Amino acid sequence: MRIPVKHDRGGYDIILERGALMKAAEYLPQDRRTLVVTDSGVPAQYARAAADATDCAGVVTLPAGEATKSLDSYRALLSRMAEAALTRGDCVIAVGGGVVGDLSGFAAATYMRGIGFYNIPTTLLSQVDSSIGGKVAVDMDGIKNIVGAFYQPQAVVIDPDVLATLDRRQFAAGLCEAIKMAATSDAELFGLIESSGDINSDIDRVIRGALMIKRAVVEADPEERGLRRVLNFGHTVGHAIEGMMGGEWLHGECVAAGMLPMCGDAVRERLRSVLQKYGLPTGLPAETDAARLCDFMRHDKKAAHDGINVVTVDEIGSFEFVKMTPEEIAGRAVTI
Ligand code: NAD
Ligand code: ZN
Repeated sequence: MRIPVKHDRGGYDIILERGALMKAAEYLPQDRRTLVVTDSGVPAQYARAAADATDCAGVVTLPAGEATKSLDSYRALLSRMAEAALTRGDCVIAVGGGVVGDLSGFAAATYMRGIGFYNIPTTLLSQVDSSIGGKVAVDMDGIKNIVGAFYQPQAVVIDPDVLATLDRRQFAAGLCEAIKMAATSDAELFGLIESSGDINSDIDRVIRGALMIKRAVVEADPEERGLRRVLNFGHTVGHAIEGMMGGEWLHGECVAAGMLPMCGDAVRERLRSVLQKYGLPTGLPAETDAARLCDFMRHDKKAAHDGINVVTVDEIGSFEFVKMTPEEIAGRAVTI
């Protein structure tokens, strides 16, 4: 299926289809040169399929992991683009998770002031979340996404079949972002994830449901001035846990634990059993103390002087924005 996404300079389509990668020529440009970017953890045949489907000047394979979202790899990628003599009429195709997508998108946004960008997300997180919305970035000095831009792709090709090779922990962490969106905005989708007897066969519907939510949010608030903050549900405490755990927990796992303090009691119980069902954390890491959690929250770039805007959910499918101090948030987190 084609999901059209509008933005201030036009729009693009998200193609969501099993087997899409194997017929990628239908969706990728045939009249321009391409550079395919992937990482060492993504099965090589996915990048190969994209390369074979286009007039490809080369495949760049970066080391897998968040460390690749750096200024050094950004520079190295720009060099490869220049060596391949890409011009403004050419394009970059990302084949990988959020790391490859964010880095390649940022390189595409800035090389020659912007060249074409196609995204083929291959993790569940990137399929439901990072490939839509136009945020591209790299990390610097230990600060995530500190250098970046809003830059829209020309198409996003999502093939759920590629999830077959993704490890279960990564799958669950990506699913958590869909659970997050469903909890705030779509009770029916939440019910589907909650009751699914076989999430692999329901995953197309889950991806579609999450994309519909994210599309509505980013179309209404492309630059995160208001509504888009709903996507941060679970992320204030989640980011603090991520900082405390130093990479031991995946982002989605941190968000799982981070959502629980932000819910009413009834929602928390439902959420907890969904998280448990998919092997996600159902509480804070052992020995979390409120003071440390507060420290990490104060350093979050979204923390304002008079408190942090958090998202709370008292009924599945709806949400509220509430301002809380780090102490209040930490207090909730350590008492659930
Ligand atoms: P990732 O890109 O690091 O991928 C996770 C791992 O899975 C990697 O080792 C990768 O090699 C491997 N992999 C990818 N596809 C695979 C497949 N089909 N089969 C087997 N292995 C596969 O992680 P991620 O969770 O996709 O993305 C995380 C990044 O996304 C973070 O940097 C985060 O900041 C960013 N992000 C961006 C946005 C946005 O709006 N741009 C939103 C959320 C997250
Ligand atoms: Zn997230």
